[in-house]
Amino acid sequence: MQSNQYDIIIVGAGPAGMTAALYTLRAGKSTLLLEGQTYGGQIVQSRKVENYPGAPEIGGAELAEQMMAQLRALDAKVVSAHATGLRKTVDGYEVLTDGDVYSASAVILATGVGHRKLGVPGEAQFIGRGVSFCATCDGMFFRRREVAVVGGGNTAVQDALVLSEICAKVYLIHRRDGFRAEKHLLDRLAKVENIELITDTVVTEMKGEFTLQSVTLRNVKTDEVRELAVSGVFEAVGVLPQNAAFADVVALSSDGYLLAGDDCQASAPGIFAAGDCRQKRVRQLTTATADGTVAALSACEYIDNKK
Ligand SMILES: Cc1cc2nc3c(=O)[nH]c(=O)nc-3n(C[C@H](O)[C@H](O)[C@H](O)COP(=O)(O)OP(=O)(O)OC[C@H]3O[C@@H](n4cnc5c(N)ncnc54)[C@H](O)[C@@H]3O)c2cc1C
Repeated sequence: MQSNQYDIIIVGAGPAGMTAALYTLRAGKSTLLLEGQTYGGQIVQSRKVENYPGAPEIGGAELAEQMMAQLRALDAKVVSAHATGLRKTVDGYEVLTDGDVYSASAVILATGVGHRKLGVPGEAQFIGRGVSFCATCDGMFFRRREVAVVGGGNTAVQDALVLSEICAKVYLIHRRDGFRAEKHLLDRLAKVENIELITDTVVTEMKGEFTLQSVTLRNVKTDEVRELAVSGVFEAVGVLPQNAAFADVVALSSDGYLLAGDDCQASAPGIFAAGDCRQKRVRQLTTATADGTVAALSACEYIDNKK
């Protein structure tokens, strides 16, 4: 097992982590950026971003690529590894990963959020064989087929709109009778002919042989149960923080978000929280990159004050 020393380790190469790296590198701090999956975070799932200042209309993957290109120009060290825990040392922290152990004077946690799952029988068996969490990434696998989207917010409606251009038919299933999505999305939804809304309804089971073939639906008002034949289900039922691995070193909110102030300082000295992983009200690109900036500058100041 190898040990590497840095000024700052950033966990997560989403928009928050990449922005933090931009600032720590430009401040001359040796920086390691750890990413457990693919860099870019959630935004690579978005086909079109329209609210990032200076880029009126840009694909999420393209935006992530541009952020990473900016870091590569600064010779950023990005390692593909999943952080599994933190350990306090005499002068900083060790970040444990599924491979090596890395050391730093300060750590920025920018772990974002993951997808909430429905938790119904059959779901685990069909993930990757019909069950997906990303319409933009996986929609083409279901070309000209019938699929369902589950959820009632912006992501669910956006997913249904994306899929309506690829699939023969899209069922949008929501447990309530009204959708929480923004008005401009609902206006677009109303105009699309191959999207059918199924409201007051929950999915109770997923069935198939090797791949998904149908879902069982239950109307929450009438208790009526029926089967719906679909070859894909896109789940858009919310997000979950991914901070449990760090809970023995930093404080989390009751629902698992990192507790940190406006300076992004977490409950332990030398640990900072940035982006969607932090307890806050608005989770967007602009708030994630703003946090990345603040966390990076706070971490630099922390290190400089220790000298
Ligand atoms: C479909 C979709 C569309 C969206 N559209 C918009 C939009 O149009 N405008 C907008 O402002 N926002 C949008 N958002 C929200 C926006 O993407 C997020 O607010 C933003 O990505 C948060 O950035 P982040 O860096 O905090 O977290 P994330 O983007 O979640 O990135 C976190 C990164 O950390 C990595 N990670 C997690 N745990 C570990 C670990 N233990 N070790 C190593 N790596 C780890 C993850 O793999 C991930 O790459 C959208 C989100 C989705 C899902």
